[in-house]
Amino acid sequence: MVRQEAVANAVAVCTLPGSDPAAASEALRHELVTAGHMTDADAREAAGHLVRLARIYGAGPFTPLEKARHQLGVDRSAFRRLLDVFGVVPQLRSAVENGPSGKYWTNTLLPLERKGVFDAALHHKPVFPYSVGLYPGPTCMFRCHFCVRVTGARYDHSALDDGNKMFAALIDDIPTDNPDAMYVSGGLEPLTNPGLGSLVRRAAGRGFRLTLYTNAFALTDRTLERQGGLWRLHAVRTSLYGLNDAEYAATTGKKAAFGRVKANLERFQRLRSARAEPVKLGLNYIVLPGRGRRLLDLVDFIAELNAAAPDRPLDFVTLREDYSGRPDGLLSGAERADLQEALTGFREKVAARTPTLHVDYGYALNSLSAGADAELVRIRPETMRPTAHPQVAVQVDLLGDVYLYREAGFPGLPGADRYSIGKVSPGTTLTQVVERFVTSGGQIPPAEGDEYFMDGFDQVVTARLNQLEVDTADGWADQRGFLR
Ligand code: SF4
Repeated sequence: MVRQEAVANAVAVCTLPGSDPAAASEALRHELVTAGHMTDADAREAAGHLVRLARIYGAGPFTPLEKARHQLGVDRSAFRRLLDVFGVVPQLRSAVENGPSGKYWTNTLLPLERKGVFDAALHHKPVFPYSVGLYPGPTCMFRCHFCVRVTGARYDHSALDDGNKMFAALIDDIPTDNPDAMYVSGGLEPLTNPGLGSLVRRAAGRGFRLTLYTNAFALTDRTLERQGGLWRLHAVRTSLYGLNDAEYAATTGKKAAFGRVKANLERFQRLRSARAEPVKLGLNYIVLPGRGRRLLDLVDFIAELNAAAPDRPLDFVTLREDYSGRPDGLLSGAERADLQEALTGFREKVAARTPTLHVDYGYALNSLSAGADAELVRIRPETMRPTAHPQVAVQVDLLGDVYLYREAGFPGLPGADRYSIGKVSPGTTLTQVVERFVTSGGQIPPAEGDEYFMDGFDQVVTARLNQLEVDTADGWADQRGFLR
């Protein structure tokens, strides 16, 4: 038993920086022989290859199988044997999931594989999208410098009535087998739609767990009074654009916004505690270049919010990095050391001051805090897929327009209308819009700059579909994608 645990440990950490691949190979060799997978002679060579495979896919989840085979320098039949053995040793799978890029596997790829949506996209099957984003906001009170929205562009107020009727019909139409099938975001700010509470109530009544992505500027007591349905949300995820009024003004262009957002969140804390509402509350925080040390102040801010309702502390925080503007998206050595130190300090302070807080470090920060670089997915127009992936996700705006990518659903965005595949309307359901696009062989030839219509999720999905396609073309259809 002790021996088994030692093997499990040595192998499961073999993808981490500083681990000892030779020790992992030796432990694995012993395991392969005692479990009867291989003879001692075969296991001697295979163990080293299997550890290398775990390290390749723990760091680079989108590596085509043929590329991995060439890195190992083995022929196809030996490689097939290695893949078969890899599949029956759970510690090797754990090693990939624990690797520097493990979050790609555990947060996105494996859950979507389990739903079969990648296969549906590859085979051009007209299935209902796994995830539907509702973009109900007619406008936004901020003008964030990084936001793609067109200044001044908004949906006319007169679109609200018909738009909300359309959303209500859409909610009624969505199959209930996936409670997380919908989320509310933008596009513009969802809380600028006065009918949002009713829509949330309607969706919750059908068993859906909706997360609202909001800047929380309009999450006032008046909004909560008028839109009681908002209490039926599963979670409120607030994008935080700074930790004081000056930072907010620099990012959003709005004065005194931080004070108002903070007051809104504190009130929300107190009310949900007093009303014993199950809705979760969390923050989304982008770590800007050179601002890693602000993470410590973020913990203080969260502790202040917690003080407003000590029995209902904040549930989660999602940290995201901003690597934009760097060549190849890579950090300089000094920036990396600085950020690593900041993350260590953040972890310690969270443990001390806000111990119940769940922290999601995302793809890149997670690996950085483990001392390695995650593979950064960079889709370019030439690697975009003209058929996109409506089987995985679509977004619907206030006019009923169905968009293929998450950053395309802004009014007046040049070129974005090419990524609208139809309109949900009284005579047309979302099912029909998707079906028509897929069965008619709909394609959008990518143009320069189109990659900015994709968010991180869209990019990961695209990279995975490209990988699966290459593996299949290379004759590895049954093993496509390495882990599934
Ligand atoms: S990023 Fe969000 S909050 Fe900022 S301007 Fe764009 S829609 Fe508004």
